[in-house]
Amino acid sequence: MDFFSGNRHRSYTVSKAHLDVARIYSSPVLLGPPMCDELLALVEHMFTEEEADIVRHIRPWIPRTAASLARASGRPLAEVREALRRLAHEKYVLISFGNGEKERFGLLPIVPGTFEHVLVRRSPDEVTEWHRRFAELFETLYRTGFVAEYARKPVNAVRYIPVHEAVAALPMALPSERLEVIMEEYDDFAVGVCQCRLTKKLLGEECGRPLETCVVMGDFAEPLVREGRMRRVSREEVLDIKREAEKAGLVTWMMNDTSSKFFRCSCSCCGCCCDALRQISEFNAPGFIAPPHYLPYIDLSKCKYCGKCAGVCTMRAMVVSKEKEEKRHQHIKERCIGCGLCAVNCPQGAISLREVPDYQPPPPSFPAYVARHGRNYVANIFRVWASRLRSRH
Ligand code: SF4
Ligand code: SF4
Ligand code: SF4
Repeated sequence: MDFFSGNRHRSYTVSKAHLDVARIYSSPVLLGPPMCDELLALVEHMFTEEEADIVRHIRPWIPRTAASLARASGRPLAEVREALRRLAHEKYVLISFGNGEKERFGLLPIVPGTFEHVLVRRSPDEVTEWHRRFAELFETLYRTGFVAEYARKPVNAVRYIPVHEAVAALPMALPSERLEVIMEEYDDFAVGVCQCRLTKKLLGEECGRPLETCVVMGDFAEPLVREGRMRRVSREEVLDIKREAEKAGLVTWMMNDTSSKFFRCSCSCCGCCCDALRQISEFNAPGFIAPPHYLPYIDLSKCKYCGKCAGVCTMRAMVVSKEKEEKRHQHIKERCIGCGLCAVNCPQGAISLREVPDYQPPPPSFPAYVARHGRNYVANIFRVWASRLRSRH
């Protein structure tokens, strides 16, 4: 069938089943993009027409069993079971809970969610042509900028902690900023490749920084190791991986609450590849990232304008120039994540980190996080929904 692909008004031929699945992913409740050719192309790649005909009966955030999806789709139970097994345990485009007859299958948002779930791998050598194409189609959709629409009001889902060397020089650093203290809470760790840098590598746009930096801690580590998608590591190995990543100019990301129970993962990011940091570096939408606890202070009397701080800043938040008598050193606060890489790399010791006076420490639990930011989540979703309604009229 032909139809208008939403805002862009281009025609596209697609099956009814794929169209229905794209509509579900496009829901603001699932933080989805508007209906567009980029989304349809991704959905068509993720699901065959038969798979889409089953998946179109799953609603956002309401997982269903194979038996109930067989009834809804009118397809034989054995066929539905096999399709769901493939989607949840081979392609990883669906998430599943429980097992046996009670296993339920659900949809994740495109990002964060499906993108990471599909590309969690032990090594870049384990991806296929299907993954390469998935990465390409995902990147095309990501570049439409739809994610930024869900962060107009700050939701502060993640935070960046200052690099190890910077923390060591900060007597006032909180336990939640000390990686070794955070890690103390867990016994089980797994590591895999960073899905964002893997994507860029598959597209031939890699920045060359380390790939094996994506760490999962606690209860989520074991299933990923069992599935062969991450490798088990010790706490000491995790700390080594993070230190090496910092030396390569990467910065450490944590979920923005300090409880040990909530799903814990941590990657090491760069402003060029990371889909979280690109929200600031490309889309000027800082709302997903918690404001930093520290900002760099530059003592210009010590500065030699060598530009090293600008070179190491993954957010391009430092601008340094020296031409004849004209010297310029600018810090762009809006882009800064307070990582301290500039401070620890300045050969003159001209940069120190200073506390931001009105800093709010991370919430102590997931419910506390929801109490602080849940209202903004809902407001962002409502805003997207209302603007789509307006654009239809
Ligand atoms: S670079 Fe950032 S967004 Fe990408 S996988 Fe690592 S942590 Fe996640
Ligand atoms: S690295 Fe230090 S000395 Fe060099 S430009 Fe930056 S602040 Fe100045
Ligand atoms: S200016 Fe750049 S390197 Fe320095 S703290 Fe901010 S983000 Fe990090």
